[in-house]
Amino acid sequence: MDKRFVYLDYNATTPLRSEVKARLIEGLEVYANASSMHEAGRRARDRVERARASVAALIGARDPLSIYFTSGGSESNNTVFQTMYENARDPGRGPRRKIITSAIEHPCVLNSAAHLRDSGFPVVYLGVDSEGRLDLEALKAELDPESPGGPTLLVSVMAANNEIGSLQDMKEIVRLSKAAGALVHTDAVQAAGKVPIDVEDWGVDYLTLSCHKLYGPKGIGALYVRKGAPIQPLIRGGHQELGVRAGTYNNLGIIGFGLAAELALAELGEYQARVGALRERLRAGIMARLPLVHVNGHPVHNLPNTLNLSFPGAEGEAILLSLDLEGIEVSTGSACASGSLEPSHVLMATGVGPELAHGSIRFSLGRDTSEADIDYVLEKLPPIITRLRRMSTLNPVAACV
Ligand SMILES: *Cc1c(COP(=O)(O)O)cnc(C)c1O
Repeated sequence: MDKRFVYLDYNATTPLRSEVKARLIEGLEVYANASSMHEAGRRARDRVERARASVAALIGARDPLSIYFTSGGSESNNTVFQTMYENARDPGRGPRRKIITSAIEHPCVLNSAAHLRDSGFPVVYLGVDSEGRLDLEALKAELDPESPGGPTLLVSVMAANNEIGSLQDMKEIVRLSKAAGALVHTDAVQAAGKVPIDVEDWGVDYLTLSCHKLYGPKGIGALYVRKGAPIQPLIRGGHQELGVRAGTYNNLGIIGFGLAAELALAELGEYQARVGALRERLRAGIMARLPLVHVNGHPVHNLPNTLNLSFPGAEGEAILLSLDLEGIEVSTGSACASGSLEPSHVLMATGVGPELAHGSIRFSLGRDTSEADIDYVLEKLPPIITRLRRMSTLNPVAACV
């Protein structure tokens, strides 16, 4: 097969889709300040509000005004955690209550939680099972107000994991948390456009989205806030976004986000079927060609586009670089963790052990992935793994017991 470029890193970011690109080019002309009262300003504002409705529709939010535009997923997550800090600082609200999150969150949640811990909040990182699903018994125990750390202020659990793709039972997590009087946040950056999201059905108080994981531009995201849930600005200034997020409206990003959300919702079923079938072709093809391959994540409750595999006896970074030479772009764990020699915190939390965690590769497929792309990987990957295993001092058989 001739050399191809096969991008299989859609969980790190996605290329702009052509419809969104065309809309952005047209949107470049929408220069007016969307807070201005003149006609150009009102027209810009109308575009912003239409985009807000599209984003609300993607997550099943009835009220478009429950959507606040931000600069991305990281900012949305930070805003929620900062709100907990601001609220607990108010002496009228009593002592700092417990923050519960999971051990497999994105670094922007883990580090926001750690920041609260440094400010005196009790913070609990719940474990997951070997398939990456939250330990609900442990959640129940931690939600007990008599447990160490006392009553809970916030539960923050990601809807879908970026490294292994495992999906959480958000409805059940919300049910348990609400029964204990806690607020619930979910980082749904990876879930959006890949699995159905219904904030009304789930009952979450906060939900995070990022546009660049949805075939739209970078630097734009959203935070859903249920009516009545506390929310404080991370960025103070003008009255934009009901005072929750100051700064002149990012017309261009918002316009792009609106269309990306609209298309993602319209194509969700088709996406799941097509990308899911390609992921299965890749999984089955690799398993048929190579011995001792371990699939990370959940066999059913998983993102349709994410395949995380461990190849004991071969090292993840070496696999990544060898694939890169063949034009195949993948990731070891998360993009944010790469560059460090630490094994993925997500894989370690699933209990696979450092050897499997070090030998893991994330294939994340997307809209533009084709059967020919998958077949190219099926041709190039097996000899790479075999060569690396042969070079390795580790015995893959011994490593697997
Ligand atoms: C990419 C990602 C983020 C960060 O979003 P940005 O818009 O890049 O800040 C947060 N959470 C998850 C799960 C992600 O995959």
